[in-house]
Amino acid sequence: MRSIGLRRVVVLLLLLSTITFAAKVKRLAWVNGMSFKTYLQKHNVPKTVLDELDEDDALIVSDVENCRSYYELIASTGVLLQALIPVGEELQLHLYKTHRGYKLEVIPIEYQEDTYIALLKIDSSPYGDIVKKIKNRRLANEFTRLLKHSVNFRTIKKGDPLAIVYTQKMRLGQPIGVPNIKAAMLETAGKKHYVFKHTDHKYYDENGKVLIKKYMRRPLNHIRITSKFTKRRFHPVLKRWKAHHGTDFGAKRGTPILAAADGKVIFAGRKGGYGKVIKIQHKDNYVTLYAHQSRLKAKLGEYVSAGQVIGYVGNTGRSTGAHLHFGLYKNGRAIDPMQMVKFSTDGLTGKGKRAFIARKRKYTKIIDELFKNQTPSQVWNTVNDIGVSPEMKNYYQNRGW
Ligand SMILES: [Zn+2]
Repeated sequence: MRSIGLRRVVVLLLLLSTITFAAKVKRLAWVNGMSFKTYLQKHNVPKTVLDELDEDDALIVSDVENCRSYYELIASTGVLLQALIPVGEELQLHLYKTHRGYKLEVIPIEYQEDTYIALLKIDSSPYGDIVKKIKNRRLANEFTRLLKHSVNFRTIKKGDPLAIVYTQKMRLGQPIGVPNIKAAMLETAGKKHYVFKHTDHKYYDENGKVLIKKYMRRPLNHIRITSKFTKRRFHPVLKRWKAHHGTDFGAKRGTPILAAADGKVIFAGRKGGYGKVIKIQHKDNYVTLYAHQSRLKAKLGEYVSAGQVIGYVGNTGRSTGAHLHFGLYKNGRAIDPMQMVKFSTDGLTGKGKRAFIARKRKYTKIIDELFKNQTPSQVWNTVNDIGVSPEMKNYYQNRGW
């Protein structure tokens, strides 16, 4: 019931290429690192639209600087009518003009997620061929990242086959987010090397050995989680969509905050709802964020090591009590920090091991079928024509926008 209403609200930009309509929809690249306030200024939108946001929303708005591309509907007069700006994989800011002024809301991104398969023979390199033949750079990155742990890429020869089973979120004909590889295979020197994603979201080789170990440590010596990460959830009381792009740890003001892994400080200062915040760049395109600090210790540009004190717990920015908001970003997208933080030992035993073997059998069978049938890879349809929904079109046309 709710989803029908939601759909009507959310599907504002539709694929209606036949409409002739003075206002134009454009897909644009976000200026790297640009704040939302700067964006509002650029379009002469009063900053008061931010006043209605609560603590969580304010943090989401602060994350907009990581956005890559977004949509704008511009009136023939050059005035901004609507903007849809994704923040993370699941939510977007919807800024829109009404006859009473601009409004801002956080709404879910409508997407579909499909399973795709890829089978190809290597001409130059796994990375280069995936980009060229499947046209998905992020898939190439993921594949390389996963297989490099178990395969010596220098032994790869022209004609060696690879296969990938993965899911990809799609919106308006464009892939969004990082593809989710379920299983992959690369054959070199007559040996097949597999990786499988297990139900615990970790990757294992064909022997059930974990491939990528969690490598971050806890950002506080004693942790007490007060709020978990959520990509999005429907708030039953507020009746709207919320997200929490980090994990909150309760701690007294002044408690030392520790770097979760080795890295370089890429931001140290005040930033919107985050208050006094430090961001650290780590290997493999991970960034950690430590918000609401009372005092910053690490300096911009400094190299820090895991466990080093970088600042102290506080209550700055949009915060209702002393706590550490700990965020983790992969390629600019918020992910659950606890996925990367080591709490216990890794390894499959008993039930987990049996479940892994069943999963491995399933995906090995799929990959074998691909080879048997020489199933061609599926490549994206890129949709270039983007229009506006009929209701919004009428609304804007009636006002001569
Ligand atoms: Zn938080």
